[in-house]
Amino acid sequence: MRLAGARCWVNAFPAACLLPGVLACCLLLAPVSGSQGDKEPFYRDCVKECVRANCTGPPLGGFLSAQPRYMTLTAACVPGWTCQDDCRYLCMWITVGLYLAEGYRVPQFHGKWPFTRFLCFEEPVSALASLLNGLACLVMLIRYRSAVPRQSPMYYTCCAFSMVSLNAWFWSMVFHTRDTYLTEKMDYFCASAVILYSVYLCCVRTLGLQRPDLSSCFGVLLILMFASHVSYLTFVNFDYGYNMAANTAIGIINLLWWLAWCYGNRRTLPYWWKCAAVVLLLHGLALLELLDFPPLLWVLDAHAIWHLSTVPVHFLFYSFLIDDSLHLLNTQKRGLKLD
Ligand SMILES: [Zn+2]
Repeated sequence: MRLAGARCWVNAFPAACLLPGVLACCLLLAPVSGSQGDKEPFYRDCVKECVRANCTGPPLGGFLSAQPRYMTLTAACVPGWTCQDDCRYLCMWITVGLYLAEGYRVPQFHGKWPFTRFLCFEEPVSALASLLNGLACLVMLIRYRSAVPRQSPMYYTCCAFSMVSLNAWFWSMVFHTRDTYLTEKMDYFCASAVILYSVYLCCVRTLGLQRPDLSSCFGVLLILMFASHVSYLTFVNFDYGYNMAANTAIGIINLLWWLAWCYGNRRTLPYWWKCAAVVLLLHGLALLELLDFPPLLWVLDAHAIWHLSTVPVHFLFYSFLIDDSLHLLNTQKRGLKLD
């Protein structure tokens, strides 16, 4: 987990980053400007000396030839591990060792807790959890497509939502594998896309079936909002606080909208509880994000636990989507008004 908003925002299908986001927003608004560990003179001197001794001239060639093959595997997608990265990693652990030996609390470095690298994975458990979330989405998308006929009114909207989610989990996995300027932005923007699409999904389900023109206009509005959001963060200022506040605001709308719909349909739709449980469960689980502690065994932090905890929720959510899509199809076939 990275403090101060430089955190992965994914975990967001119907409104996964909402109320906890509000709390996190209050707690973590200040942008990353450095952490205790990387401000430490010892750490800075260590990195400077390491880079001087290993990352220029002939020693650099030695470093590159000695670097394990798997460390360059990410280069196909994002920049591989550089000599400077390795120096920072090495000096981070030396500094952590000194802190612990002196009885001090583990410091953060560049806004993040120290994580033990596994092969080329920077945050191995979060990367694995992102993969599992993505696989859960994929398995349930396949199940949805086999269980629900294409004629169902929500069929294409649900499938498109799955694709947007899969894309977000892919970038979450990449970001936790290798944190760079590009992967961080992709993780953020794709997560925002999921949150906005989940609002669109909610709009189509609750209003758009009777008023397709309304949901179309709302969809255009959301696309414009997304374009403005990404443009501002890319070309004007990458403001972590603003990004989190914007996601939180949209998320709260999403949460309340779904819950209001669940409440209104509790007597007519027997599966309404699945939707309500998913929304509430995701918010409860996201509170884990607020538990900020050094990684257990140097791999398992609150963010990783949060990502792991959302994996089973996908199954309940898609179960709801299947039930609801079949209900709508049945209603349509009987010539009744869609509810
Ligand atoms: Zn994440």
